Amino acid sequence: MHKKGLIGGIALLALSAVGGGLATASPERDVLVPAEPTMIDFVDPATVGGLVARTLSDADRGHGHARRLVHITYPELRDAPRLNRALHDEAERTLHHFRDLTKFDAPRPRPELNVDWQLAAASGDIVGVRLRTGESLGNGWSNSIRTLWYDRRTGKATGSAGLLSGHAALRDLTRLVKDRLAKRGSPTDPGRVTGDQLDSMAFNQGGDLVVEFDDCQVGPCSLGRLAVAVPARQADPLLSPTGRRAQEAVREAARQAAPTVPRTLPSSSPEAVSNRAGSVDCAKAKCVALTFDDGPGPDTPRLLDMLHQAGARATFFTVGTSAAARPDLLVRMSVEGHLVANHSWAHLDLSKLTTSKIADSLRRTQDTITAAIGERPTLMRAPYGALNEDVMDVAADMGLAIVGRNVDAGDKYTNDAKAIADRVTRQARVGAIVLMHGVHPATVDAVPDILKKLQGKGYTLVTVPELYGTAGMQAGHLYRSGSEIARHRPLT
Ligand code: ZN
Repeated sequence: MHKKGLIGGIALLALSAVGGGLATASPERDVLVPAEPTMIDFVDPATVGGLVARTLSDADRGHGHARRLVHITYPELRDAPRLNRALHDEAERTLHHFRDLTKFDAPRPRPELNVDWQLAAASGDIVGVRLRTGESLGNGWSNSIRTLWYDRRTGKATGSAGLLSGHAALRDLTRLVKDRLAKRGSPTDPGRVTGDQLDSMAFNQGGDLVVEFDDCQVGPCSLGRLAVAVPARQADPLLSPTGRRAQEAVREAARQAAPTVPRTLPSSSPEAVSNRAGSVDCAKAKCVALTFDDGPGPDTPRLLDMLHQAGARATFFTVGTSAAARPDLLVRMSVEGHLVANHSWAHLDLSKLTTSKIADSLRRTQDTITAAIGERPTLMRAPYGALNEDVMDVAADMGLAIVGRNVDAGDKYTNDAKAIADRVTRQARVGAIVLMHGVHPATVDAVPDILKKLQGKGYTLVTVPELYGTAGMQAGHLYRSGSEIARHRPLT
C-alpha cells in the first residue's frame, strides 16, 4: 500500500469526475480528507499481484468508420476464474445493451461507451471490482456503477447483493437507505429507491456500507454522483460472511496504510520535446515508427519480447487506468528503449469534454507514468484521434506534442493477423507512423511478420521523436508522419 496517498488523490478526482457532487476534499490540498463517509478508498491496482487490464472493443463498423466509440476495460486476476468470467460477461452485456441502444442512431455525434474500473478492495480472500460505465448518446454523459465481489474462500463471484445475508437483509438495507436519503433533505426522491438499484456497494475505511446510485436514478441528473453511507453498526447485522470478510479487508487495508503523506509529483512542463529515446539518424536511415495504443495489457509482455528479439523500438500510448495497474510493464518498455506516451486516463473522446476534464485526464496519466518510469511523457495521442482546439491547447500547456498516424493497421476490427501484417507492410513508407493496438492478440500475432518484412526492406524501427531528428517536436503541434522530412532526401 505504499502508494496509498497517490491513489487516494486519484480516487478523489475520479469520484468528483463522476459527478462533482459530494466529496469534500478541496483540490488545493494533496492530503486525503477522510471526512466524506461515502468516499471509497480505492486500492492501488499496482499493489495487487497477477492483475492485468483487459479491453473489449466494438467490432461493428459501417462504411469504414466506427459508428460508435467504445472502450471497455476491466481487470483480470490470476487464480480468480469465476471473477474473470463474471467481469467479462458484465462487459459483454454492457456492450450488447449499448449496441441495441445505438442501432438506429445517426452517425454524428457518434455515441460513446466507456467502461473503466477501480478496486474497492483487494486483500486476502476478497476482491471488489467497481465498474463505472459512461454513456454519451449525443447530449452529455450519464454514468452508472456496478460493483462485483469475489470471495476466494468460496470461489464465488457475486453482485453487490452478495455482501448481504439474503432477501430480508436487502429489504432492510433498502429501508435504511431511504431513511438516510430522506434525512438528507437533498432534492432526491427516496420513494424511487428499490432493492435492484443497490448493485454498487462497497465499504469505507470505517467499515460503513457505501451504496452508490447511477446518475438520475433517485434524483435529478444534475446531482451527479449520489451515494449513501450506512453506518457499520446498522449494516453489520445484514452482512453475509462474504460481506463481513469484505468489510474486514477494507478496514485492515486502512490500518496498514501508512499515515497519509502528501506525495508531490513533478509538474514541470517542458517547452519542447527533444529527440531522445533512441539515437538513429532518420535523415540517413529509412525509419518507420510503430505505435501501440491502449495498453498495457495481458499481451504486452509477449509484444515486448518480440520487439526485443528483433532489436526494434516502438512508442506505447498507454491508457492511465491500465498503466496504473501494471507500472512494471511501463518500466520494462522504458528500459528496453521504447517510448512511453500518454493516451488519456480512461480513453474518453476528449473533444467532448470541458477543458478542465481534458487537463485532468491527461495530467493524471502523466503523473501515473512519471511515478512508474521517473520520466514525464512528452507525447500524447487522442483516443479515437478526436482532436479540437481545446485538446490541442491543453496538450500545449502540458508540454505534450500530439501524434496522429498515416498508416492504420485497421486492427481494431479484425482478428486476422495476416491481414493486419499485410496492410501494415503494404502501406508503410519512409517516415510512417503506424497505428496499432497492443491489447489485441491478433495484432501482437502480426508483429513478428511485420518486423521481419519491414526490416527485410531495410527499414529501421524507431520511436516517434526519432523521426523528427534534430528538428524535434513542439508541444501542442500535431504530427502525422515524418515524411515531410523524408521527402527532402532521395528515396531509395
Ligand atoms: Zn485508443
